Amino acid sequence: MESYREQLIDGELVRGHGPEFESINPYTEKPWAVFTEADEGDVDRAVTAAERAFESWRKTSGVERARLMNALADVIERDIDRLAQIETNDNGKLIKENRNQILFAARNFRFYAGYIDKIAGEVKTMDAYTSFDFTVREPIGVCALITAWNSPLQLLSNKLPPALAAGNTAVIKPSEFTSASTLELASLAIEVGFPPGVINVITGFGSTGALLTSHPGVGKISFTGGIETAKRIAAAAAANIVPCSLELGGKSANIIFEDAPYEKAIAGAIGGVFAAAGQSCVAGSRLLVQASIYERVVEDIAQWASRIKLGDPTDAETQMGPIAFRGHYERVLAHIADALEDGSRLVAGGHPAALGGLFIEPTVFADVDNSSRLAQNEVFGPILAIIPFDDEAEAIAIANDSRFGLAGGVWSKDVTRALSVAKEIRSGIIWVNTYRTSAAQAPSGGFKQSGYGRERGTEALLDYTVVKSTLVDLTDTVRDPFVLGR
Ligand code: NDP
Repeated sequence: MESYREQLIDGELVRGHGPEFESINPYTEKPWAVFTEADEGDVDRAVTAAERAFESWRKTSGVERARLMNALADVIERDIDRLAQIETNDNGKLIKENRNQILFAARNFRFYAGYIDKIAGEVKTMDAYTSFDFTVREPIGVCALITAWNSPLQLLSNKLPPALAAGNTAVIKPSEFTSASTLELASLAIEVGFPPGVINVITGFGSTGALLTSHPGVGKISFTGGIETAKRIAAAAAANIVPCSLELGGKSANIIFEDAPYEKAIAGAIGGVFAAAGQSCVAGSRLLVQASIYERVVEDIAQWASRIKLGDPTDAETQMGPIAFRGHYERVLAHIADALEDGSRLVAGGHPAALGGLFIEPTVFADVDNSSRLAQNEVFGPILAIIPFDDEAEAIAIANDSRFGLAGGVWSKDVTRALSVAKEIRSGIIWVNTYRTSAAQAPSGGFKQSGYGRERGTEALLDYTVVKSTLVDLTDTVRDPFVLGR
């Protein structure tokens, strides 16, 4: 059993003062690592250290901050195989997928390191050049960064690099199911010489996260996770009047028109929902297909889904690993039962896989009613709902008939059609003739109950700053002190 009992607080690896807990490897279903829960004192020490460190980090030159962030990217890349294995131990995702995601995390550190000396304010000239205003973007303070279990380092890299680049310090709370890689990142931060208190990592359960988000020393909260937790976090943010970004779930519509690049669209639909065993916030879990090609698509998708190779997530040939933990496995099976009860047509899978353990067959339902539970609820598992439509207007109406608005896809060789449909979809990310690709430059985030705030791109960086406006009077005029100067 690996020991991850030590958390990073104020530059030192120290044991949490709460009870120990274990992480279960979802493939073997055996515990593989042990952690300690942070108690209230640990959380307070971490936030206090981050507050102290903020006073010097915000004044540290951009060149030095960028050097440290690039150095961290270097050691992440150096240790990529070890880090990918650790994440696979924790969440059961394919090692090749974790590897790619962690390399993407390193890329995010480099992207924001390169941005530090480009964070600019504006000069606003005022009346007749007798006065002017300039704005600067200042860091906010201590950022509480809370991540979900499906992509621990990748999700963290959407938050920590822009926070640090803008001059903030951080206290990170990873999911109880996947804390190991974040603790490894903490050790790497020490190795490359981040000053004590700039990056802190505490581990534990939701209750630990709640202690963190309600701490009065926290200046901003950034959260990735589910809606119910998000409501608690938004309430904690409201209580202390601090800004909060929420990256939540989705029920994204992947729309295939009759003029789609066919093979590419089918592969995109399969990857959209079965990659990472569907445990992806942007999963294209509703596949909308134009009526003229509907039966052909249903048949091809069902056949492909039945051929997906399940197995050991460390095997290069495996295409789908297990569900991340037993509680979630039970939830995914319950969604299948709901879909059957609601009358959807099962065309592939639908059962626990013959392999046993936490494996579920890649499952496809056709003729799904968009008002049914399967079409309206996020499954976060390998279950696809196929829905027919006749024309653009109907596709848009179905896609938007959801409380979520995270992502979506449009497949058509007609660029005018594709872009006009993309424009009408109420979601934060739309892919055209591709799906589930991302870039450090491209912002991501939700409409509606998929959350607010943006990650990646310039937009995320600005989310970690606060604007200060400085008005300067260049004249010798003595103003009437009893009226507003304007
Ligand atoms: P949860 O909301 O259960 O948990 C997310 C994080 O919040 C975990 O670290 C959790 O800790 C912590 N937490 C739980 N309760 C509290 C609390 N009261 N205060 C502060 N922190 C708390 O989500 P899951 O981990 O189950 O993640 C799945 C969800 O995340 C899905 O809905 C998915 O769509 C969404 N997601 C969104 C993404 C996006 O970018 N939009 C990306 C990936 C996932 P602990 O685990 O220890 O309980």
